[in-house]
Amino acid sequence: MKLHIGFDDTDSPRGGCTTYVAALIIERLHKLGVSFLDYPGLVRLNPNVPWKTRGNGALCLRIECEENRQEELKECVVQTVEEQADLKYKGTDPGIVFLQGNVPCGIEDFAKRAITGLVTKDEALKLIRKYRAEAFGFKKGRGIIGGLAAIGEELKGDYTYELIAYRTPENRGTPRRVKASSVIEMDRKLGRLVFNNVDYETGRVLITPRGPDPVLYGIRGETAEAVRCGHRLVVSEEPVERWVIFRTNQGTDAHLRRTVSISEVKPYNPVIVSGEVSEAPKIIKGGHVIFKIRDETGQIDCAAYEPTGDLRRVAENLTVGDFVEVYGGVRPPSPRNPMTINAEKIRVLKLASIRVYHNPLCPICGRRTKSMGRGKGFECKKCGFHGRNLKKIVTEKTRRLKLGLYVTSPRSQRHLTKPLSRYGQEKRGLPDFVGDIIPYEKISGC
Ligand code: ZN
Repeated sequence: MKLHIGFDDTDSPRGGCTTYVAALIIERLHKLGVSFLDYPGLVRLNPNVPWKTRGNGALCLRIECEENRQEELKECVVQTVEEQADLKYKGTDPGIVFLQGNVPCGIEDFAKRAITGLVTKDEALKLIRKYRAEAFGFKKGRGIIGGLAAIGEELKGDYTYELIAYRTPENRGTPRRVKASSVIEMDRKLGRLVFNNVDYETGRVLITPRGPDPVLYGIRGETAEAVRCGHRLVVSEEPVERWVIFRTNQGTDAHLRRTVSISEVKPYNPVIVSGEVSEAPKIIKGGHVIFKIRDETGQIDCAAYEPTGDLRRVAENLTVGDFVEVYGGVRPPSPRNPMTINAEKIRVLKLASIRVYHNPLCPICGRRTKSMGRGKGFECKKCGFHGRNLKKIVTEKTRRLKLGLYVTSPRSQRHLTKPLSRYGQEKRGLPDFVGDIIPYEKISGC
C-alpha cells in the first residue's frame, strides 16, 4: 500500500527545522522496515505569505507499507513531530497529513495554488475529507496546509536536489565551522551541476545558514550524485550528525507562474507583469531603487532592493519608455508606500532611445556655438559668426543597459528563484529512484 506523509510548521525562529524532523522520521521508518518510493520531498510554498516561518518549506515522504502496519507507522510520525516541534512557540502550529494511494488532481491543484498564491486551512480540510486523507494538527494546526500541499506536489515538472547536513546538539547555536575555501573549490569543480553555493559579488558562502537551527549546510544541485559529491568535497571543522538528500522545487521558479495585467496584481502573490517604464527610477534611502511601470490597465511601483546586485543596477539604468517584464512578490500597500512588486527578476524587452541635444558647431571656426535665445539662432563666441538658421544637433545616447534577463544576486534569491545557471537545465518527469539506495546517512550523535 502506498502512503504519503506530509508535514509542516514544526520550527520557530528560535530553533528547529522541519527538514530535521523529516530526517529523524526517515530513520525511524527505515528501522521499521518501510521502503521509500521517492526521495523525501522538500516543497517550498509561496514565499510571500505573511505568516511563514523563514523559508516556507513543507515536507513529504512517500512510502510503501503493509496495510496492517499503517497505524504503527502513523504513530511513529506523530510522536516524532510532537517530540521535535517547538510547540511552546506561539507561531508554531504543526500539522501532519496522511494520504493513501495515488495523489488525486484536487490535491495536486491545491499544491499548485499554495506555491503560486494563497490557500486557506478550510480548503485543505475540505480536500482532506473529500479524499479520505487523515490530518493531525497541533495547536492551530496551520501546518496541515503545507502538509497537504507537499503531498500534492509530486515534482513531476522541473526539480532540483538539496543535500542537507545537520550539526550535533552541542554545536547548535554557535558559529558554523565550514571551510569557506573548500566550498569555493567544490563550486568551481562541479560547475553548473550545483548552484547558489557562493555569492561571488561579495565572496560570501551561502550553503551555511546563520540561525540557531540544526542545519550545518545545504548543497543544491541538478542530480543526487552531484550534491553527494559536493558533500564529500566540503570540509567541515565540526562533526556532521547526519545528512539527507531531498528532491525539491527550489531553484525552479515554481512560484512565478502567473502572468497578470497590472490591475490584477494582488498582495502576497508572486506575479509576472510586463509594461512600459512610466516613471524614471528613484534611489531611496538604503540604496533601493523604485520605478513605475504601466500597461493598458494601470500603473504599479516596482522595487529592486540594495542587496539584489545586478538587478538593482538594471533598475537604476531604466528610463521612461523602456519595456520590461518584472517577476516578483507583491507587497501590500502601507500608509507610506503603495502596493509594490519586489523584483526578483527583470527582463528588459525593449530599450527606449534617449535623445541628446547639442548646440551646433560654428561653420567658420568649428567651435561650439552659444544659443541666442529661442528662435534667435546661434552665435560663435570665438569668431563672432551668427547663424540665424543653425539648428540643435540631435544624437542618440548609447544605453548602458542591454536587452535580456537579469536575476537578483544569489545572496538575495528566494529558495524558489531559478538562478541564471539553471536556465536550459530544466527537467521533466520523475527521476529513477531505486528504493534500496537510501538517500540519508546517520553519522554521529544520538
Ligand atoms: Zn566661429
